[in-house]
Amino acid sequence: MDQDPKKFDIAVIGGGPAGMMAAGRAAELGAKVVLLEKNGDLGKKLLITGKGRCNLTQAEFDDKEIIKKFGKHGKFLFSALAAFGPEEVIKFFAERKVPTKIERGGRVFPVSDKAQDVLRVMQKYLEKQGVKIMYAREVLGFESDGQKITSIKLRVGEIQADKFILCTGGKSYPATGSTGEGYQWAKDLGHKIIETAPALVPIKTKESWVKDVQGLSLKNVEIKLLQNNKKQDSRFGEMLFTHFGLSGPIVLDLSKKIGELMRNGEVAISIDLKPALNHDQLDARLQRDFKENSNKDFINYLPELLPQKMIATIISLSGIDPRKKINLVTKDERKKLIDLLKDLRLTADGTTGYNQAIVTSGGVDTREVDSKTMQSRLISNLFFAGEILDLDGPTGGYNLQMCWSTGYVAGTYAASLSKAKL
Ligand SMILES: Cc1cc2nc3c(=O)[nH]c(=O)nc-3n(C[C@H](O)[C@H](O)[C@H](O)COP(=O)(O)OP(=O)(O)OC[C@H]3O[C@@H](n4cnc5c(N)ncnc54)[C@H](O)[C@@H]3O)c2cc1C
Repeated sequence: MDQDPKKFDIAVIGGGPAGMMAAGRAAELGAKVVLLEKNGDLGKKLLITGKGRCNLTQAEFDDKEIIKKFGKHGKFLFSALAAFGPEEVIKFFAERKVPTKIERGGRVFPVSDKAQDVLRVMQKYLEKQGVKIMYAREVLGFESDGQKITSIKLRVGEIQADKFILCTGGKSYPATGSTGEGYQWAKDLGHKIIETAPALVPIKTKESWVKDVQGLSLKNVEIKLLQNNKKQDSRFGEMLFTHFGLSGPIVLDLSKKIGELMRNGEVAISIDLKPALNHDQLDARLQRDFKENSNKDFINYLPELLPQKMIATIISLSGIDPRKKINLVTKDERKKLIDLLKDLRLTADGTTGYNQAIVTSGGVDTREVDSKTMQSRLISNLFFAGEILDLDGPTGGYNLQMCWSTGYVAGTYAASLSKAKL
């Protein structure tokens, strides 16, 4: 074994979930590994995942279903999920005394509800496998001869390595260290970068009434996206009003599509507050309710229909006098109310940007990476793992699963590829 303390078989750049898994796995297979992290700690972003509870994977054990969630490039994950899918992730943490539980929508969390426990497992894994961790070690870039990386540039100090695994993540939540430098290095090395954009990100709306209902979370609603009055996409589930627009799981999941559609023109967001009832069923219910409450003021009936926080807004949007007796509400007014309940309209005014995006869409073009090994098809001693790749999934643990899977595969193959093959 080489005794030079600055010489390594593999340098992993970026100590997020993908980098920690890649480094630990490569060292487990006997490689001498250094993990370079520019922060003073590992996994800064991991600690804030799932609101500090870490939705570490998704209890969807059919790989095909996970692949579908990653859209048109999802097939790239086929081999990585087969090698280290959700079941393996759950087992990996359970064996290290962090058992998990499954919540709504297949979201898997540690039983302790602590992202800190997930990070601790990864830190211990690195320690046990003998990975050299270099903190506050910012990588500045690489030199290459066009086929191989010949050297790595650090802001402070120097190291040498035979192989490099790039795990610098995306550009979202830059305060965690994910500032997207890896994209530029990959580009400098000849890789195509699919245009990046904030994804799983809150949406700003043109209508300012949203701030009157900020903080209101609605469960079991349907959101449709419309362009030129044509439905483009929809989601059913939970959403949240914010002081500038909309957030919550189904809005985040639609945000990438909203961004794409906005490039072609205006995007309308239609919220169906009563998706279990069609237009006629809702009308029948209102007519029944109106009969039973005929002497009530309109405003005093509405709590039966809507969350308290929405009442003032719906009254104002409907134009119905809140003090009007229910039996005096006209057919047209009832129709207006139904329209608001079934099709509460907002207009998208962009996303809140990388600062609040859960992930970054776009990145290293997966067509230039071998999906079985995560090895670059252009630079023989370069591998990729995690969010730096052009892969982004919905909320629900899919993105971390992608990081564990690609990190595991990159670590495995970087460790096992002989120097002769490079
Ligand atoms: C608020 C929030 C909540 C989330 N919740 C979930 C969730 O519950 N479930 C889920 O599946 N996903 C969640 N995600 C997404 C998930 O956190 C990311 O997909 C994941 O962290 C990406 O991992 P990564 O290892 O690819 O990159 P990152 O976690 O971004 O790590 C990259 C690392 O590289 C380091 N680095 C960058 N540049 C350099 C450099 N020049 N030199 C040295 N080091 C460098 C960074 O400091 C960082 O530590 C959440 C994201 C956010 C922002």
